[in-house]
Amino acid sequence: MTSPKHPTDSHSNPDHKPDHKPDHKPDHKPDHKPDHKNDHKNDPKLEQMKKNTRSTLELLGEDVEREGLKDTPKRHAKAMQFLTSGYDKDIDAIVGKALFKEKSNEMVIVRDIEIFSLCEHHLLPFYGKCHVAYIPDGKVIGLSKIPRIVDVYARRLQVQERLTTQISAKLMEVLQPLGVAVIIEAFHLCMMMRGVEKQNSYTITSSMQGSFRDNAITRQELLALLGGLGQGRR
Ligand code: ZN
Repeated sequence: MTSPKHPTDSHSNPDHKPDHKPDHKPDHKPDHKPDHKNDHKNDPKLEQMKKNTRSTLELLGEDVEREGLKDTPKRHAKAMQFLTSGYDKDIDAIVGKALFKEKSNEMVIVRDIEIFSLCEHHLLPFYGKCHVAYIPDGKVIGLSKIPRIVDVYARRLQVQERLTTQISAKLMEVLQPLGVAVIIEAFHLCMMMRGVEKQNSYTITSSMQGSFRDNAITRQELLALLGGLGQGRR
């Protein structure tokens, strides 16, 4: 399972490093910096995070020198940096030139966007699907940009409600459309593994703006096109 050699110092061999990235969007390379080559010793924050994780492991009664845990503080620190990398992302730069003039004002839906985020209360993952719809008013956005915007907000410490409204507010700002709807269906590991230990319940949040908020028929059309919610796919 683990590589037989564990570098004692400096950076580890990237080839032997378990990849923590939920690499579901391989075409999204610019999202994370390929900085494995740089010596992480230059990063005082990373060093401090490693120390903190190490002491947490010790407090949990673990032997931090055993093979499986030796590099865990570094891997954990890097995973946390990646999972919160959305704070540093500039959405205007992501949107870039991908806004196009378009006369259509028919509903556009990007459904089943996978989300992986961390609940800010327990630092445990929540994950599920995000559905985004909008009705253009003179401009449309390159479709691949929508999942990228979703990722920027998901890769932060979040609560599902805020994640939902941040995505819809940003799309309203960027697109100035007739309406935006964002619906997230997510499983929360902090409910599944601990707390109430409910493995099959999931949470649905929605944020409706413009015509989705004001017009019941538009809302119904969206739900019909989505084929209903609550299909609970994990
Ligand atoms: Zn939680």
